[in-house]
Amino acid sequence: MERYQTAVDAALSMRPDQPVYCFRPKVLAEDARRFAGLFPGKTAYAVKTNGEPFVLATLAQAGIDCFDVASPAEFAAVRGVAPSAEMLYMHPVKAQSHIRLALETYRIRTLSLDHEDEVAKILRVVRALDIDPGDITLFVRIATKGQAAYELSKKFGAAPAHAVELLQRIDRIGFRCGLCFHVGSQIEDPQTYERALASADWIRSRAGVPIVALDVGGGFPAVYGHDPRRRTPEMPSLEELMAQLRQDISDWGFDTLPLVAEPGRVIVARSISLVVRVLLKKGRRLYINDGIWASLSDSWTGKITLPARFIPDPARKRRAGNPDEIVPFKVCGATCDSVDILSRPFWLPETVDTGDWIEIGHIGAYSLSLRTHFNGFYPDTVVEVETPFEAGEAPSGFASIETMAD
Ligand SMILES: *Cc1c(COP(=O)(O)O)cnc(C)c1O
Repeated sequence: MERYQTAVDAALSMRPDQPVYCFRPKVLAEDARRFAGLFPGKTAYAVKTNGEPFVLATLAQAGIDCFDVASPAEFAAVRGVAPSAEMLYMHPVKAQSHIRLALETYRIRTLSLDHEDEVAKILRVVRALDIDPGDITLFVRIATKGQAAYELSKKFGAAPAHAVELLQRIDRIGFRCGLCFHVGSQIEDPQTYERALASADWIRSRAGVPIVALDVGGGFPAVYGHDPRRRTPEMPSLEELMAQLRQDISDWGFDTLPLVAEPGRVIVARSISLVVRVLLKKGRRLYINDGIWASLSDSWTGKITLPARFIPDPARKRRAGNPDEIVPFKVCGATCDSVDILSRPFWLPETVDTGDWIEIGHIGAYSLSLRTHFNGFYPDTVVEVETPFEAGEAPSGFASIETMAD
């Protein structure tokens, strides 16, 4: 990987026409250690957030030795960089052949589910492979309600009474029982975990079976930018949030159980920024070389404000507009598809023009993991950058906020 001091150095030296991911291994290691140091249990990095080998290898070197995986490709990616790391197969709905691969080839012994037919699938493989069910922990995923930028509880999770039945069924077979939830990504309300813990406690007391572990999932918020014209949302720091979570865990009597967390976004977001180029400026529109089919998929741009840094091309000698005026630009993506327009504008100096670059910060989560080959565009250039995004000149704008007149 080529190395640069800053992303601005990378842009000015490479003059790239392709989007460039600027990876900061030190920041990743720091954020991983910070989380693991604050969470009172096992930290299982959620591979779907960003499963690039360079990310997984950096995490393994930083001491992360447990990974939340959901597919054969993720099993292989983790095994490839961290052969002795533990894997938790926490997808509630799995293909029978993938369960077999997990248990037989990868020797995974922890799985999650939210339905009795999934218990039957797992049991079939366990019998076929002659594994002792007592070596396997099945986490029942419970439905939760809460405020997160991306609600995930609508898709998975057993209602409380159903979860009680599942635990009793699992225990009767001889599997070890765990409880898990995943409140959604980028929680917006610090009470979210408390409500889930209350529900877990109700289920545990009704089920009356031994529970060997509690997994509180992901959802821990990453730090992003914000629109300076609006009030900053009142989110506690990770330290404060974790102090609250520890308190809630102990208030609901789960502090004597082994705990697991599955953080994704909070660990990887800050470690990557993206340098995109303005291919054309047309009035208040910017056509850039990335878009919703690559690193800026719609879900991202709709809800989260990312800090952005304007990198003017020194080769352009004349510029129109006021460099101190930050104005909204509609952003059109690289493909020919007319839906490839970001739903929120980028706010940048009025002088931005064709050929300039924009560095979008804190984009390590759910960006490159979601890119597609659509229309033949597939950004895949990664460089290593020494300093954190915040270390340079203050970001001169921000990407993706809520409203813009067309
Ligand atoms: C996506 C996912 C995570 C990670 O969520 P973040 O909000 O990125 O922390 C954790 N657990 C499960 C089950 C997931 O599906």
